[in-house]
Amino acid sequence: MMFEDILYATKDGLLIVGAIAKKKIAAFKLNRKFSVENMRDVQMPPQVRTSCYVDLYELSRRKFGDAIANFSRILERKFIGKDLTYFYKNIKTLKIKDLVGRVKTNILGSYYVGHNEIILYNDYLKSIYHELFHMASSCYRDDVYYSGFSQNGEHDIGRGLNEGYTELLTRRYFGGFVDFVPAYEEEVRIAKYIEKIVGQFKMESCYLRANLIGLIRELRFYLTETEVTDLITDIDKMHYLNNSDNSQDYSSLLHLEYLKNIYFTIFRAYARKLCFEIEDRIVMESAIDTEIKKFVEEDYIFSDIDGVVKEVISIEDFYDIFDEELDKNNMRNSRYY
Ligand SMILES: [Zn+2]
Repeated sequence: MMFEDILYATKDGLLIVGAIAKKKIAAFKLNRKFSVENMRDVQMPPQVRTSCYVDLYELSRRKFGDAIANFSRILERKFIGKDLTYFYKNIKTLKIKDLVGRVKTNILGSYYVGHNEIILYNDYLKSIYHELFHMASSCYRDDVYYSGFSQNGEHDIGRGLNEGYTELLTRRYFGGFVDFVPAYEEEVRIAKYIEKIVGQFKMESCYLRANLIGLIRELRFYLTETEVTDLITDIDKMHYLNNSDNSQDYSSLLHLEYLKNIYFTIFRAYARKLCFEIEDRIVMESAIDTEIKKFVEEDYIFSDIDGVVKEVISIEDFYDIFDEELDKNNMRNSRYY
């Protein structure tokens, strides 16, 4: 349901429009026949409707306006049916600090959720679309910074996956407009595999609503709670290791260990999904091999760890995991019948 996340029911029968309009609209009454299924029939208050609008001409006149207007145009066109609340909220007050050529740094750009500010350090076309995706998927509420799949407050979680998915979307929708710079390669590949399990529509929707819980809910169909949280934190650990200057000996061993954990969990999640699909006759037994090859793609996954290419996982490992899960599934079924 498209608007599910922005509406919160309260005890006294009022619905409060959440993140977008907490300040603008206090609350509005709904008739008694309201139900979640009828959400689309609800007349949205005028404040909400008018906030879902961008003035492309005004955007194009801003500094870096060619990219900002282009981003907005493509987002509205390609993300029809997805909730762009944070994008509409943030684009109006977005600040861009132009430090291009003024500071000597390797950083291309950054985005600060609390200030709703992008800072550009180098050739802006190399980073602005990536940063604009952060802008379109971020909000600050109750001392927590939410951005795509990351949450930053008392706890810090999801940063690795968030960077990977942000970069994946940047390449998918703006690959033709940017000078390609390889960034977060491993994170992108991991995000792509997770998207194959969850599905593109759901994953993009959760990202734009900064809905990590929603993503976890989707993964929980195939993984235990511990497996999901370990997966997300292992991606974080790998991400920090990958982006730090730590060159101590143990770090490359750790790096490989995190990557193995990540890919084994991802493969296990897909193996379980495939078992369910076979059981539900969504996938016929004759098509299993084709489905597996569509998912795994390469016979081996290699990773460059501190300049040394190492094997992380192979399609043979996948078949082992798959057989294990198939056995578990058969055992479970025989108990049921
Ligand atoms: Zn980023």
